[in-house]
Amino acid sequence: MPPRTQRQRSAARKRQDKIDYQNCMERENWICQRCGAPANQHHHGKRKHAHVRHDPRWHYALCFDCHDWSHKNVAAWYEFMENNPN
Ligand SMILES: [Zn+2]
Repeated sequence: MPPRTQRQRSAARKRQDKIDYQNCMERENWICQRCGAPANQHHHGKRKHAHVRHDPRWHYALCFDCHDWSHKNVAAWYEFMENNPN
């Protein structure tokens, strides 16, 4: 793939990510969906799967600690998502 195309694609993806972030945080009123603390992190539940990347069901508003936790406890995080569907 030519570098230029890749850069453009990546810029478009970053723009969409920003929109996703805003939508998700506003939907949850900037409250952590795991512990109820003020949220400032946005987690893509199933980021690896490109077709659900921008699906709001897999976007979670999290505080810093819970976001950190979600990356360190992937199995528990997936369980959390199953118990807390958007
Ligand atoms: Zn939290």
